[in-house]
Amino acid sequence: MTQIAVIGAGVTGLTTAYELLDRGFEVTVFDRHRYAAMETSFANGGQLSASNAETWTQWGTVLKGLKWMLSADAPLLVNPAPTLHKMRWMAEFLSNIPRYRANTVETVRLAIAARAVLFEMAAREGIDFDLERRGILHFYSNGKDLAHARMVNGLLAAGGLERRELSPGEMREVEPALCGDFVGGFLTPSDSSGDIHKFTTGLAAACARRGASLRFGTEVDGLEARDGVRIVSGGREERFDGVVVSAGIRSRAFAAMLGDRVNIYPVKGYSITVQLADAASQAAAPWISLLDDRAKIVASRFGKDRFRIAGTAEFNGANRDIRADRIRPLVEWCEKHFPGVSTEHATPWAGLRPMTPSMLPRVGRGKRPGVFYNTGHGHLGWTLSAATARLVAERVAGELAPRRTEVRLPVAAAA
Ligand SMILES: Cc1cc2nc3c(=O)[nH]c(=O)nc-3n(C[C@H](O)[C@H](O)[C@H](O)COP(=O)(O)OP(=O)(O)OC[C@H]3O[C@@H](n4cnc5c(N)ncnc54)[C@H](O)[C@@H]3O)c2cc1C
Repeated sequence: MTQIAVIGAGVTGLTTAYELLDRGFEVTVFDRHRYAAMETSFANGGQLSASNAETWTQWGTVLKGLKWMLSADAPLLVNPAPTLHKMRWMAEFLSNIPRYRANTVETVRLAIAARAVLFEMAAREGIDFDLERRGILHFYSNGKDLAHARMVNGLLAAGGLERRELSPGEMREVEPALCGDFVGGFLTPSDSSGDIHKFTTGLAAACARRGASLRFGTEVDGLEARDGVRIVSGGREERFDGVVVSAGIRSRAFAAMLGDRVNIYPVKGYSITVQLADAASQAAAPWISLLDDRAKIVASRFGKDRFRIAGTAEFNGANRDIRADRIRPLVEWCEKHFPGVSTEHATPWAGLRPMTPSMLPRVGRGKRPGVFYNTGHGHLGWTLSAATARLVAERVAGELAPRRTEVRLPVAAAA
């Protein structure tokens, strides 16, 4: 049987492993942690959000970034220390500005395709991940932001996404718990939210049931494409027929070992998980998932007693420190918009988004035989990974084994 190694047991690695198993491959998943989903797929914003497909490659983001550089609690923070990787990444980010529209439309198409695949996986394997299919509400507190949202809505519609503009009164009907002065919002009924960690660990268990070998607690030290692919770990070398690199922010280093360039920069974000420990907090928290475009904050309810709030982007290398001045705005946002929710028990977290300069994931083959990538999903890995996993598994099947299934995605393959 054809043997494929997957590097990384985050959401992209495990969705890939699952799709490869479906096509009859013998799959081994490597991860340095003892459990699945311990890095960026641990405590993100929870949104399965085609409505958040707008890429950041636009002059507006650059100008805001420059303005915000002076403020420690701004949504975007850039450490001004010029490392070579950061400078090159940013130069490439700027060169992608002309593709802002095309990349946004491509992302929304991929996100719509991903939903069906993800729901199908969860249903087949009986994975409970606190899925809420009540839609996502974007809200705006000034006319300028709402005008920009209307422009973006045109791009999302071009990608096939149906949304509805709401007046402040209609917003109150849709989510009575949300407090604040708003000029309007957009509701995307087909979007949803759920706990990425629960889903990914559930999928790890499903992969194990279906015969995958899960090598947790195993750091991969080296990769070489020679007569198949060699994986070096703990001084031991193993041969596989192929490899899929889904190693989050480490994918760049692995790609370099395999003769490829995959330009991924770690973009840090933070979340708090508020325990809704009492009945008053449970009643005061929203059920619909929310996106505050100005603050760049997203929020999702996980079942009766958890409320996740996430946001901010920080360009500061592979630094995972949880900074108090970046967590405070998330707590304050909760207290402002949901004053009845107790923030006494809020667990902070920081994760590193594996971001490419185009903001499109790298999905497909590398230069050498047997080498594949499904990585670089940036701020949308939870939203996109089920679709890209299917695409890359099809590519692997096309090159390393006879096809056993047909691809069912209504999207063009990403690069
Ligand atoms: C604050 C925040 C909020 C977010 N909110 C959302 C959201 O609402 N919706 C959405 O769609 N996306 C969101 N995202 C993005 C999403 O979480 C990521 O895109 C996604 O989790 C990336 O998954 P991954 O599998 O590529 O990486 P990871 O989950 O980081 O997995 C990579 C794995 O590779 C393993 N690995 C790396 N190096 C090695 C090695 N040498 N040996 C063995 N194993 C190795 C790591 O241990 C890790 O488990 C958010 C991200 C952040 C930070």
